[in-house]
Amino acid sequence: MQFESLCLHAGYEPKNGEPRVLPIVQSTTFKYESTAAVQKLFDLEAPGFFYSRLSNPTVDYVEQKLTALEGGVGTVMTSAGQAASFIAILNLCKAGDHVVSASSIYGGTFNLFAVTLKRIGIEVTFVHETASEEEIEKEIRPNTKAVFGETIANPSMDVFDIEKFARIAHRHQIPLIVDNTFATPYLCRPFEYGADIVVHSTTKYLDGHALTVGGAIVDSGNFDWAASPRFKEFVEPDESYHGTVYTKAFGKAAYIVKARAQLIRDIGCVQTPQAAFYINLGLETLPLRMDRYCENALKVAKWLKTSDKIEEVRYPGLEDDPNYALAKKYLKKGASGVISFVLKGGREGGARFIDNLKMSTLQVHVADIRTCVLHPASSTHRQLTDEQLVDCGIPLGLVRLSVGLEAVEDIIADLEQALAHV
Ligand SMILES: *Cc1c(COP(=O)(O)O)cnc(C)c1O
Repeated sequence: MQFESLCLHAGYEPKNGEPRVLPIVQSTTFKYESTAAVQKLFDLEAPGFFYSRLSNPTVDYVEQKLTALEGGVGTVMTSAGQAASFIAILNLCKAGDHVVSASSIYGGTFNLFAVTLKRIGIEVTFVHETASEEEIEKEIRPNTKAVFGETIANPSMDVFDIEKFARIAHRHQIPLIVDNTFATPYLCRPFEYGADIVVHSTTKYLDGHALTVGGAIVDSGNFDWAASPRFKEFVEPDESYHGTVYTKAFGKAAYIVKARAQLIRDIGCVQTPQAAFYINLGLETLPLRMDRYCENALKVAKWLKTSDKIEEVRYPGLEDDPNYALAKKYLKKGASGVISFVLKGGREGGARFIDNLKMSTLQVHVADIRTCVLHPASSTHRQLTDEQLVDCGIPLGLVRLSVGLEAVEDIIADLEQALAHV
């Protein structure tokens, strides 16, 4: 099946007389007729459900769909995108281990890496994406267990050179994890370029309707855990699971089964059946929505370029954008829906612009179906002084615009009348 068909049909396939629409199995627990049957489940010897912290039929169907869309071997959905990144790393690292990450990443992930992982003894080195292979490679240490980046970084919109980072990681038998939130598998499938693990905040385009927070980890099945000297936990018996050896028992799915069996079990950051149902509704229309986001955003970005109130427009789909060459390679169908631009009016100009918008709304969110905007200097980063903002790469007049699915004429008219107040 083509991608559009998988969005509708992968995962849940009803049999004779069963509901056509994905059912919500709102049950924490499942009934069994014999102790022998339950033992097999607990020993991971038979597939099935016994407690919704480990897995649930509704969530499982949506996980299967995500697996098909990314082209992997298995998926674990999590309570939030943050939990997906955390579990993805923790499945590889323990205290004393090290990760190399691109520096252009989502602020929440940056904090997770720089503060919380550090607290539990996992160190992260940030490298600039545009650095040479040699420079990046110098940061790899004997205890490095993962390399990380975002296909399209939130909010800088830098495009990640997946093949370059995959080459570096693989030369040292380390897996590459890619956060594919802004691209979605419709615009880019990182496994095709060498990524080993994909993570998502499903909260954004996959849900699309701003209904529910969620995350997902997808395993390509391509990384050879047994061949690398760095991942003893994959090839030695897990005493917390009756001596299971993940690579022997689960082959290509070793990573994703281990993530669920050890970490989802112990930490409990699961997705709920109700939320999975909503996310599935979003997935069904993903290709249609992504085409429109890309089309609208490109038109809006080109229009913004013509305004004399604007200093700079950043959108990887613009031919003169520094990320255009990478966007052409990795984002053949379009550069997604988020644009950042810098108003000439500084902090006050940004606030005036936002306050005068009529249709677009001020939201701490992106990837909604409705156009939404954020002015970091007067909201998320308002506690910072002008100098501090500039130091962390956020010009005072920076606006993050998440273009929605309204008629593009209406979006532009709204921006135009608000700009007149700046
Ligand atoms: C929002 C976001 C996250 C975090 O996801 P939550 O669902 O909010 O926890 C991670 N990565 C990227 C790129 C994001 O945009």
